[in-house]
Amino acid sequence: MPQDRANLAVITNPAYDKHTDAEQSRQLELISVLQTTLVLDQLLQLFSREIQGVISHDGFRYRNPMLGMEIQGGERASHSCNYSLVLEEQHLGELTLMRRKRFSERELARLEHQLCCLLYPLRNAVLYYQALQSAYTDPLTQVYNRTALDSSFQREWKLAQRQRTPLSVLLLDIDYFKKINDTFGHTAGDSALAKIAHCLRQSVRASDMIFRYGGEEFVLLLSNTAAEGAQLLAERIRNHIRDMDCSDIAPNLRITTSIGVATLSHPEDTPQQLLKRADDALYKAKRQGRDRVVSV
Ligand code: GH3
Ligand code: MG
Ligand code: MG
Repeated sequence: MPQDRANLAVITNPAYDKHTDAEQSRQLELISVLQTTLVLDQLLQLFSREIQGVISHDGFRYRNPMLGMEIQGGERASHSCNYSLVLEEQHLGELTLMRRKRFSERELARLEHQLCCLLYPLRNAVLYYQALQSAYTDPLTQVYNRTALDSSFQREWKLAQRQRTPLSVLLLDIDYFKKINDTFGHTAGDSALAKIAHCLRQSVRASDMIFRYGGEEFVLLLSNTAAEGAQLLAERIRNHIRDMDCSDIAPNLRITTSIGVATLSHPEDTPQQLLKRADDALYKAKRQGRDRVVSV
């Protein structure tokens, strides 16, 4: 793909004094539009739409490796210009505009003025995203916390109802975890929880969501997964955890888990009912001797 401009760093300082009155008022208008949202993808969509009059383009891509984020809008095309966005030495990601026709120098110069208006709103949106992430993340295990579960479950459930796709849930509880704490100490217990969360992340697809539900309990929300697939995944996770090498935490430490599996079956099934069924299945797994998967 020909790059008409690559990796130019856009730094602050819009330097209004160099602009005509018309340019100034266009920039002020753009700033006021961009200030209407703190949501990253909305902000970038808005920016892309608002600058069409200055520099027409078919699509854009925003990448921010620090947030592990990539946002695309519109369509890909053969010509591109690419900017690293930097504000007060803080890297805010890379923005690429794409279109079928070459970008002229004049257009790029105008685009660079528009990009200056994006920097402060973009920094606010990045900070907002980071704040949301930490509000929804469990600090010990780095998986989602219970607050995140409530909203995610509602969203996935509605999606499954609307699109008539299967939705399964796994409820996983570590066996005899109290004994692990008592034998090896609370710090070892904490490390074991972090290791299990890591193992879960390695075992699932990117679209599966992992939540720390309580002390040593995790919920996995599996969109687009029917009962059979959920049961297979639960077995795989159970085996992965049992086979984990925990010698870095404590010699002779072995961890097993019990897992309850439930799948959305009737349209009237609510998220609460689904979770309750997974909990009943987990209870059965415990009663049947632990280190096993039970589906309902
Ligand atoms: P079971 O097989 O029936 O699940 O037995 P269990 O011992 O795992 O269950 P129980 O509910 O009796 O104990 C859970 C333990 O998990 C007790 C609690 O101290 C421990 N725990 C909860 N949260 C944490 C945590 O953040 N760190 C550590 N180290 N331990 C925790
Ligand atoms: Mg428990
Ligand atoms: Mg337990």
